[in-house]
Amino acid sequence: NLQSTVTLNSGHSMPWFGLGVYKVQEGQEVVDSVKTAIASGYRSIDTAALYGNEEGVGQAIRESGVPREELFITTKVWNSDQGYDSTLKAFETSITKLGLDYVDLYLVHWPVKGKYKETWRALEKLQQDGRVRSIGVSNFHIHHLEDVMKDANVKPAVNQVELHPLLNQAELREYCKSQGIQIEAWAPLAQGHLLDNEVLKNIGAKYGKSTAQVILRWDIQNEIVTIPKSINPKRIVENADIFDFELTAEDMEQINGLNENRRFGADPDNFNF
Ligand code: NAD
Repeated sequence: NLQSTVTLNSGHSMPWFGLGVYKVQEGQEVVDSVKTAIASGYRSIDTAALYGNEEGVGQAIRESGVPREELFITTKVWNSDQGYDSTLKAFETSITKLGLDYVDLYLVHWPVKGKYKETWRALEKLQQDGRVRSIGVSNFHIHHLEDVMKDANVKPAVNQVELHPLLNQAELREYCKSQGIQIEAWAPLAQGHLLDNEVLKNIGAKYGKSTAQVILRWDIQNEIVTIPKSINPKRIVENADIFDFELTAEDMEQINGLNENRRFGADPDNFNF
């Protein structure tokens, strides 16, 4: 169901399903979206320092009526804050804005060249100090993971990457699985680019489900943690309503066949922000 979890290599559990809040406005918009999601049964929220809405996420958590320990909160250190001391400082800013005692998952947002290994050391320290339950990375290719793990004391628990049927990341998924690193999909809905896809529409029609629901179900059946974004209450509920049907092996294969290795975001080997 919506609240079922996977056990990470840190020993902590993480919900398979959550709400993403990229581009959700600080203030009422983010407070309302997060409260709607939690009231609908979501237990995981994915934010980042970059998103500028950590205060609203924190407010929504406090107003949700759900005990803190039942929620799973992710935030991320932004690129300009990477490095050891600056990451520790950025974390204090994030946790103060969130108004929390600890964060469930803290991620290195992008693999900033020459810096991400120092950033990782800071995350290890935060975990050791009990400020963060699990630590992970985002937008890491296999070579970034190998590089960081070469000198790490703690393996990343999660790698959050762009992943949807047009970019299904088969090779990276296989690698992460072999390393015990949980894959998490950002832009699971390809930021809206797949909603009119005929293959997905036809599959959805068999079950009375939308294309968005078919994609998110494909994530779950592939053991991919997924965090679709919406600020629309009906869609927040719709996106989570994927635990009452099952895609067949044939449906799964058809969706796998949509892969074009097509990115809507930046390539982690070539970004300048
Ligand atoms: P997404 O694939 O979740 O698409 C979101 C868009 O799809 C929404 O703006 C909405 O217009 C539309 N949508 C959502 N539900 C719908 C529905 N049921 N029917 C029709 N349209 C629907 O894109 P995203 O927000 O970029 O990604 C999800 C989350 O991943 C983000 O909010 C953020 O938390 C995270 N993320 C992380 C990174 C990273 O670098 N780590 C980058 C981008 C996003």
